[in-house]
Amino acid sequence: RSGFVAIIGRPNVGKSTLMNHLIGQKIAIMSDKPQTTRNKIHGVYTTEDTQIVFLDTPGIHKPQSKLGNYMMQTAESALKEVEAALFLVDVSEGIGGGDRFIIEQLKKVKTPVFLVMNKIDKVEPEKLLPMITQYNELYEFAEIVPISALNGNNVSTLLEQISRYL
Ligand code: GDP
Ligand code: MG
Repeated sequence: RSGFVAIIGRPNVGKSTLMNHLIGQKIAIMSDKPQTTRNKIHGVYTTEDTQIVFLDTPGIHKPQSKLGNYMMQTAESALKEVEAALFLVDVSEGIGGGDRFIIEQLKKVKTPVFLVMNKIDKVEPEKLLPMITQYNELYEFAEIVPISALNGNNVSTLLEQISRYL
């Protein structure tokens, strides 16, 4: 199995930490070379039977400038190029305007989107369910996976779920 997966989320939710965790174990290549004009390769996860290319999709974030506006127009087509998208959120923070903005962009494409609830090590487990309910009201996620990118908790489950979409 192989395929492309976009990693999306506002700053500080843990995108780099998740990539570093994966790279520490099984990532074969790490490159900043552009895959297309729209996507940047973050890293490639490789095992005997699976290869997942993780991509950064910069244009999906809330535009801060005219250039940002232009980038946003390309985010939609960038999302069409991937098998699945991981929408990372920080469970120690509430849903913010930045999250809602990204969700509006996700609604424009049919690409399956995972809600990856990161930093579960920072909150009480009973806080997760009400948060899931809140997110479910905004968008129909393909999968919902709670993880801790920092200590690697449940990251292997995330990888298993991703490979079902490749
Ligand atoms: P990015 O901007 O989305 O790439 O976020 P980073 O990966 O740079 O992470 C931002 C901060 O959150 C850093 O201080 C990380 O150590 C921290 N962080 C990331 N993942 C976790 C996690 O699962 N648990 C905790 N407690 N902190 C995390
Ligand atoms: Mg980062």
